[in-house]
Amino acid sequence: AAKGSGRGRFRFFSSDLLKAAEERKALEEDLHDALAQGQFAVHYQPIVKAQTNQVIGVEALLRWNHPEHGAISPARFIPIAEESNLIRSIGEWVLRKACSDAAGWGVPLRVAVNVSPVQFADQAFPMLVASALAQSGLDPARLELEITEGVFLEEGGLTDARFKALKNLGVRLALDDFGTGYSSLGYLKSAPFDKIKIDQSFVQGATQPASRNRAIITAIVALAQALDMETTAEGVESFDQFDLMKALCVSHVQGFIYSEPLANEAFVAALGGGDWIIEPSGPARQRHQ
Ligand code: C2E
Ligand code: MG
Ligand code: MG
Ligand code: MG
Repeated sequence: AAKGSGRGRFRFFSSDLLKAAEERKALEEDLHDALAQGQFAVHYQPIVKAQTNQVIGVEALLRWNHPEHGAISPARFIPIAEESNLIRSIGEWVLRKACSDAAGWGVPLRVAVNVSPVQFADQAFPMLVASALAQSGLDPARLELEITEGVFLEEGGLTDARFKALKNLGVRLALDDFGTGYSSLGYLKSAPFDKIKIDQSFVQGATQPASRNRAIITAIVALAQALDMETTAEGVESFDQFDLMKALCVSHVQGFIYSEPLANEAFVAALGGGDWIIEPSGPARQRHQ
């Protein structure tokens, strides 16, 4: 009986894996057409100065509206796009769209664009950034590129050259998802980052008593301050988390406590002409009451 059920389990497990692989293959095929079919959109989530509630910029986040499955999370389809190299054309589209949208806002907010290590590894990447800036007329100081620790898997000399070429364009660089990847403090010594983004996995547990996450955030903030970098806490949802981030002197906050990512039209509608101040509230208040 044990033998039989073992075999049964094995068969079930392997067909499960097969199903996942087939789904992935199908999504990859659908991704090939998604750009041409206009299924992508870029949404914008405010990044706010914690002490003043002033919006200083936004993060551009890609959205895929699949014709059959509806909205599919970038956490699911970006890795597929990276493995199939489709991220090059998709990433280029996001960069150009974000630059041209931002140039049209009428206020000098920064726009942060996520860059895959696959894009970053391309020698022509700085030229693409220069082209997106020239085409849109966006001030380079308003563009921030969010890069993950994955780029450091490449050979050191290439990475250094790429950073130098990008800084020469006048754009800002942010280290995204800090502490979740192949962190080495050595990266911070040589790479010219303007900002460290503290991953939401640290933020979310930080309000528990005796939290180790809190100690880690404290250390990241001290390091960033010593190296003259800003810090953004990601995924801040509750007032408890928000108050703690302020107490820990995190300079910027991004999360549902202020706003979800918004479609460009909704974002433009929310923009005032001058300073944009938003009070912490939003869905977080209802969710956590
Ligand atoms: P990320 O760059 O770390 O982006 C932050 C993620 O946190 C976004 O997820 C955002 O919607 C989510 N978020 C913001 N506030 C909150 C909050 O209060 N609570 C929670 N639970 N989540 C919050 P999203 O949009 O699903 O994107 C997931 C990841 O996909 C991004 O993580 C980024 O790594 C990647 N991604 C998104 N757009 C692009 C893109 O255009 N290019 C590349 N290469 N990657 C992208
Ligand atoms: Mg990001
Ligand atoms: Mg992030
Ligand atoms: Mg993250």
